[in-house]
Amino acid sequence: MPRLLRFALASILSVGAFAASAQSAPVYEAYAIRYGTLANFPVRGLVAGADSARRMDVATMVWLLRGGGRTVLVDAGFYRDEFMKQWKPVDYLRPSDAVAAFGVPAEQVTDIIVSHVHWDHADGIDLFPNARIWIQRTEYEYYVGADGEVLHAGVTKSDAAMFAKLKAEGRVMLVDGDDQEPIPGIRVYTGGRHTYASQFAGVRTRAGTVVIASDNCYLYENLDKHVAIAQTFDAASNLAAQARMGTIASKPALIVPGHDPLVFTRFPAVKPGVVRID
Ligand SMILES: [Zn+2]
Repeated sequence: MPRLLRFALASILSVGAFAASAQSAPVYEAYAIRYGTLANFPVRGLVAGADSARRMDVATMVWLLRGGGRTVLVDAGFYRDEFMKQWKPVDYLRPSDAVAAFGVPAEQVTDIIVSHVHWDHADGIDLFPNARIWIQRTEYEYYVGADGEVLHAGVTKSDAAMFAKLKAEGRVMLVDGDDQEPIPGIRVYTGGRHTYASQFAGVRTRAGTVVIASDNCYLYENLDKHVAIAQTFDAASNLAAQARMGTIASKPALIVPGHDPLVFTRFPAVKPGVVRID
């Protein structure tokens, strides 16, 4: 084969390979959607060792990722009465209503990555009737028994029962460990140790890799001051996970903490309560 032709063929083949890999790892649009506020929350519950006099209004949010024909949520918020009565959120919308107000009906959500089993992240998963639920196997099996019983504190009775029901319906997909790619273009990582096997996500976007930390990093203050989250199985592991987020994200500004209202001022608003992260 003439050299030039060989070169041309090789070029075409490599372009083809690139197109195939781009297709298998789609680029996502990433949004944070705020669905409520927990007013006057003690900062000491978020930042280890913070002054006990400090209070702040924390944001409750879900993250929406769109790409590759999928609509993915990271976490699903809360809605059950018991949490509404206990926590009295303000400026609250049901997470499914907040997502619908953004333009995505609940039925269109294809997948939910659950960072951990806590009520304010997992309770809302059954608001999205067609979504597959991705959670770490060891997280699930540590907290939720085969009959939906609570095995360890951290998940509520109602949410454990919900998880078991969804699992019986075949909708719960258990992820095996660190640095997995359950959905093309979205990787999950363990080691944040907010709960037994909490996970965070790295998402390929037009701006590079965005890290959705969820509660593995509550606030920008944790990152800026290199301080562990207040609720963790292991503060050293949490700090290591926060440092690792910095190596996964394409730049530090693309690490999105789990409850910081500043998320809604650091990124451009596309609607009230919704910012585009990438
Ligand atoms: Zn939380």
